[in-house]
Amino acid sequence: MVDIKCLVCGESLEIPPYVDTEKYDGQVSCKACGSLLHIKLAGAKVQGYNLVPSKSPRITRKIEELLEELRRAGKQPDDK
Ligand SMILES: [Zn+2]
Repeated sequence: MVDIKCLVCGESLEIPPYVDTEKYDGQVSCKACGSLLHIKLAGAKVQGYNLVPSKSPRITRKIEELLEELRRAGKQPDDK
């Protein structure tokens, strides 16, 4: 089971049934906060994911700040 944490709220993303975790490159929305993330999966592993700029520039902005903080702290976004 692929576990992806939402970049916005930190909740685990529910991978929709139509998503082939062996090979997927597309968008998944977070059920908890509604954010849209672009994820890449291959061989049931996450190859990469990032936030899709949405209609909520304020939230996107906030994410960028958080990511910048994480980068400065030398951590990966999915580090707890
Ligand atoms: Zn979320």
